[in-house]
Amino acid sequence: MTDISDLSIYGKNPLALPIEGGCACGQVRYAINAQPVIGLICSCNYCQKLSGTGHGAFLVLPAAAAELQGETNDWTYVADSGGTSTRYFCAQCHAPVYAKLGLHPDGIVVTAASLDDRAQFRPSVALYEADAQGWDRVDPALRSFAAGL
Ligand SMILES: [Zn+2]
Ligand SMILES: [Zn+2]
Repeated sequence: MTDISDLSIYGKNPLALPIEGGCACGQVRYAINAQPVIGLICSCNYCQKLSGTGHGAFLVLPAAAAELQGETNDWTYVADSGGTSTRYFCAQCHAPVYAKLGLHPDGIVVTAASLDDRAQFRPSVALYEADAQGWDRVDPALRSFAAGL
């Protein structure tokens, strides 16, 4: 795995804590008392299917710092990385809120759109660019990878 610590832009410009967010209806909520590890765009096939558009946008944070509330439904599949991914959706409005990756059990991956303050999302990498759609333009300033990290 590529060392991503030098790619994160949160270390130089940290966010006010806790980082809070939730689903569309407010039934699922989270508060995370730690700085993000990294913000990323992912254009893999599953992120396209699960977002309903060309890519997913996620913030990776330390799972141990996360307080989660509300009832979720979840779905686990084998991701393109070869590891499992479990996606958690609000049981009421079905918005995707967070995910957990089998290969990175210390992390929690929250959707950028679930953030109360969506300006807190500052992506620095774009993954699975080889699968990206021509109609879905990802910021060329991001460091891009053909597949995962
Ligand atoms: Zn909801
Ligand atoms: Zn993806």
